[in-house]
Amino acid sequence: MSALNLFIMVDACGWEIVKNDPFLERLAPHRHRLESVFGYSSTCVPSIVSGRWPDEHRNWCYFVHDPANSPFRFLRWLKWLPKAVTSRRIARRWLTRLAKKKLGFKGYFDLYNIPFAHIDQYDFTEKKSPLQPRGMNRGDNIFDTLEAKGVPYFVSDPANSEEGNLADLSERITKRDLDFAFLYWPGLDGLLHRVGNDSPEIPAKLRVYEQWIDQLHRLGLEHYDEVRLHVFSDHGMANCDIHLDLKAVIDALPLTFGKDYSVVYDSTMARFWFFHDEARRLITDALGGVCEGRIMPDDELRDLRAHFDDGQFGELIFLVQEGVLVVPSHMGERPIRAMHGYHPHDPHSYATLFTNQVTLPVEVTHIPHLHRLMEHAILA
Ligand SMILES: [Zn+2]
Repeated sequence: MSALNLFIMVDACGWEIVKNDPFLERLAPHRHRLESVFGYSSTCVPSIVSGRWPDEHRNWCYFVHDPANSPFRFLRWLKWLPKAVTSRRIARRWLTRLAKKKLGFKGYFDLYNIPFAHIDQYDFTEKKSPLQPRGMNRGDNIFDTLEAKGVPYFVSDPANSEEGNLADLSERITKRDLDFAFLYWPGLDGLLHRVGNDSPEIPAKLRVYEQWIDQLHRLGLEHYDEVRLHVFSDHGMANCDIHLDLKAVIDALPLTFGKDYSVVYDSTMARFWFFHDEARRLITDALGGVCEGRIMPDDELRDLRAHFDDGQFGELIFLVQEGVLVVPSHMGERPIRAMHGYHPHDPHSYATLFTNQVTLPVEVTHIPHLHRLMEHAILA
């Protein structure tokens, strides 16, 4: 009896987005709502492929304050270029490609909107690809297990398009030279960021995915006795209707970046490092007056498994409410329509699992548990 284990990750296909949509009701009718992990895809994907939490694998937010280990000193001269050039997405994309190559980073990398004047204050924490064996910052992942067990597998190449990866996987299925596939489709995430979660373009994109999954499923049944189908997401997506210029609040304080404190402005949080107590007091007081968000207590971060005792990712984490976008931020100069990375208990944060398996062999309630399912598929 031969079985093909298909694990398909549709980025940002959240519970709220599909709960009233017939997505996969014929092919994978058994639906599960999953709790996500606090953070962005930079932590959700590593949690899914490793089965561990951010405080264990330490793949959390991309940029951290770490001047001693910053690999970006060679980019400092770019601060002399006019902002009209360096803030352009197209210039940033070109520089990102150049920097990634020079630095030998293997995972996802983007310079985003980090100011070049301060870029040598930061390190980037995903130097390896979590979608490869030995790709985690700490511990192993499902690809290490596949290699150790000698299981023939397919994993998406992020440099390839969605259709390209679909074609490559289809070819492998036809040759019947694999037992396990991890396919990763990022297109819906990008679309949602651009058009929001109530655009008619979203159900249209879901119909395209359905066709592709149907095609893979059919092909699988031609060459295998059974296709075990699992389609899942890493998080959902919330529309952003409130814009918060948090940088202006902090810049108004009698403090100097780099001398008194450091910060990374993500799209839904700000992470601070303090160089003396007065800076901590002033910034903490100022954040207390920002009603669009709150300082995350250490205990709550511990419960969410995203507390780091050494403060690597920030000594203070300020998180905004669902629907608020920090803009401008180090992630972008201009607003986007929708975002994720809010509190995991906010309605639009919840992820999904769709399967054709009536009962799951292991308990799956949170996205790191998807690893158990994959491991069971390999080892059972
Ligand atoms: Zn995204």
